[in-house]
Amino acid sequence: MISCLLASGQVLASQLSSDSLKQSDYPEVADKTIVEILDISYDLHREDLAKALAYVDIALERSHEKENLLYIFYGLRYKGLYYENNNQLESALDEYIRALEAAKKQDNNELILTIYTDLAITHRKVGNYQKTKDYNLKALELAKQIDHKQAMEISYHGLGFLYETIGDYDKAIEMYLQSMEVADALGNTEGVITTMQNIGITYTKVNNQNLALETIDKAYQLALEHADSMRIANVLLDYGNILANNKEYDKALKKLDQSLTIFKKSHEKSSIARTLVQLADIHTEKGAYEYAQNLFLQSLTYSSYINSGDYADLYYKLGQLYLKKKQINQAEQALQKSVKIAEEHNLKDLIQENNYSLYKIYAEQGLYEKALKHLMTSSETKNYLLNEDKTKRIAEMQFRFDSEKSEKEIQLLKLRQNRFLLFGISGLFIVLVFFFGYTIRIKGKNNDQLANKNEEIQAQNIKLKESNEVLKQFAYVAAHDLKEPLRNIGSFINLIQIKYGQQFNEEANEYMGFVKNGVKRLNGLLTDLLEYSQISSQAPENDKVVVGDVLPSIRRSLRELIHSTDAIIDCPEQLPTLCISRTHLTQLLQNLISNGIKFCDRQPIINLDCYRENEQFTLLSVSDNGIGIDPSYGEKIFNLFHRLDRATEREGTGIGLTICKNIVDKYNGEIWFESKEGEGSTFFVRLPAQARTLSDAIVENNQQNNLLLPVN
Ligand code: ADP
Repeated sequence: MISCLLASGQVLASQLSSDSLKQSDYPEVADKTIVEILDISYDLHREDLAKALAYVDIALERSHEKENLLYIFYGLRYKGLYYENNNQLESALDEYIRALEAAKKQDNNELILTIYTDLAITHRKVGNYQKTKDYNLKALELAKQIDHKQAMEISYHGLGFLYETIGDYDKAIEMYLQSMEVADALGNTEGVITTMQNIGITYTKVNNQNLALETIDKAYQLALEHADSMRIANVLLDYGNILANNKEYDKALKKLDQSLTIFKKSHEKSSIARTLVQLADIHTEKGAYEYAQNLFLQSLTYSSYINSGDYADLYYKLGQLYLKKKQINQAEQALQKSVKIAEEHNLKDLIQENNYSLYKIYAEQGLYEKALKHLMTSSETKNYLLNEDKTKRIAEMQFRFDSEKSEKEIQLLKLRQNRFLLFGISGLFIVLVFFFGYTIRIKGKNNDQLANKNEEIQAQNIKLKESNEVLKQFAYVAAHDLKEPLRNIGSFINLIQIKYGQQFNEEANEYMGFVKNGVKRLNGLLTDLLEYSQISSQAPENDKVVVGDVLPSIRRSLRELIHSTDAIIDCPEQLPTLCISRTHLTQLLQNLISNGIKFCDRQPIINLDCYRENEQFTLLSVSDNGIGIDPSYGEKIFNLFHRLDRATEREGTGIGLTICKNIVDKYNGEIWFESKEGEGSTFFVRLPAQARTLSDAIVENNQQNNLLLPVN
């Protein structure tokens, strides 16, 4: 027996032939090997749990002496199994947990998978649905990791059964389908058929008879083609039940008869007994009581092959049938027999129902004392069952609530993400439209005409302010308001990873990484867009700023980048004063310097220089020893979001140089670059030495046909 469960049993047996026992209390196993002792204990465990456990302990002691972790694992697992089969589920869980530790110590994934499944099943029996789910998911994850398809199939099946148990039939079917898919990919037709049977039964539970019949018929056809006769008989049994459920009794009887014939041929006694009972049930339903009685009695001849629950149930059914036939004495005997078996095996349902039927019988007969006794037992058991049922339902509800809650959170997150993306994309699109519209209109202006209309300049100046205000508000609101949902997404992703990260498999974690990266990039983009929108709307100012004075704050802002690249930023001690807003100068130089450091494959050396070209202009230059820029890109690199091919693997948004251009334009300056690929680049900025107002600039620009004018 053990050898079917313990795959390596034979190998172990041959390795262990010389083992001998020290325990004198059990001389019968003294000369047996560890595997043989386990085998004996297995055969014994249903009748004599205590002895079976004592044998396993002997086997365990000897395994410990030999420091054989594999045997220790099997010993512990068998103890778990014995407790489980004897309905001592908490003790079973303890042993399984110990076995899990032994499996982990050996780093043996197959053993770990086995125990995860045992734990999942036992927790389901206890009613710990969350734990059942957890262990099934752990098994699934591990199975995926080591590409153990069969374990995947079992885990999905386990999840399906869990959901079926708690009445979440949609989810159950979803999981069964997954299990079926894996079984199919594995070429495990038996697995496909079994799962189809489960799906069929689940459909009957949601009263979808059509789908139930369709599915079981498919399973049947598949079984006819590919499976052995036992599987066919098994499918026929379910087929019959589904048909009976649909009140198609004659068809059901036909299927069950077919299945009975096969079981009889193969001498499958317990299946024969089960099928006979189902046939009897249908005949009872049809009112063919004699037939039914005959079948129940036939089934009783296989009593030693029927488990205690079915045995007690069989007598209960027989008792009910006698009641229908008004054979009260026989009914009483059958029910008494049933209640006895039920009490022996603590089968509360049957204890309650039998006692209630007996109370009615005795009450009818005027045997009130007897009747009262049975009524009291029945109502006490009913109370117990109601409480148990309530606890179970609460556990089910809690589990379903937890599952739905976490799903809702994820859906909400997805929804927010989608909304955000929609909003973000439309926001960016509008900003782009503004920007291009703005550029096109500027270029398209007829400057000659404007030059003759100086009196309109003032009015346009006002419009400039207005439209700038609109642009500022729009871009600010867009970028600013988008940051909030983005922060939420970031926080939720972090939360999900902290709370559920361990349940995620590698693939899911990788996806989470993508989302996090996406959030980070979008955040950078929004920060830069915000900065861009603010700059665009700011008027030039005439602070007198010594160029070198802004360097410390730039160094501070870029300290991480400077530190990580070991960058050197150099400049002459004496630098001239510029008439410019301090903020603008800082942003301008910071963007140029950070680009110089970023786009460099060696230790970056940045040189900042500034000198008076003549009375009118000051020339600023920022040079680097970086990767350089193909000069043919020309002005394009100052366009919004424009990044060169080689930049894509480096952080950035393609907004920095646009901001620089924007600032320089405000002061009616110029910006350009000179570069040699592989050697470095120098960005030049020419700014007027004297302070001027924006209106001055506009007038001058108009005159020079090089106008920077607003949208109106
Ligand atoms: P980003 O910050 O994304 O790099 P920028 O507007 O600052 O955006 O620059 C636009 C593109 O111009 C960059 O992606 C890069 O390809 C190129 N670039 C800018 N500065 C340099 C530099 N100093 N050396 C080489 N390439 C540069």
